[in-house]
Amino acid sequence: MYKRGHFGVAMLALAPITFWLLSTGFPVFGALVAGTVLYLAMLPDVDHRVPGVPHRGPTHSLLFAAVVGAVFAGAASLVEPVLSIAVPGGVSMVAFGFLLGFGTVVAHLLGDAITPMGVNFLWPHPRTWSLSLTTADSTIWNWGLFVLGVFALAAAVALAVRGAPI
Ligand SMILES: [Zn+2]
Repeated sequence: MYKRGHFGVAMLALAPITFWLLSTGFPVFGALVAGTVLYLAMLPDVDHRVPGVPHRGPTHSLLFAAVVGAVFAGAASLVEPVLSIAVPGGVSMVAFGFLLGFGTVVAHLLGDAITPMGVNFLWPHPRTWSLSLTTADSTIWNWGLFVLGVFALAAAVALAVRGAPI
């Protein structure tokens, strides 16, 4: 999947989360989550630039998602005492950090899983999973997912803002 398609999948995943965070009164946190997810949407594709790492190998696995989640959780535990950002009640910033990092990578993997090359979710176990819906370079799918994502995210923001108590 290309960049545009990945951003589309990321926005589709963000839509319900953004709606939830905005409608429960956490706009700053919602913006932070959306910014992070979009900024890191292409993170697993660093394997194109790291010599010796096969494309869609280790960085396209649940293990990598867990590692990124752990890094986020660690960063959140450092930031938490210094910077107070309003976070939904009951969820610690550390837990949220983990889910944010993990979810960002998983959204990318789902975007790649619809192409015939598939994703090696359980790396280093060699099996790959693929839905074979479209090739990675499909203009229709890349643009289609992007437009759907923009629409879903815009709708989530509009619904949350309109429904918010003043
Ligand atoms: Zn990829």
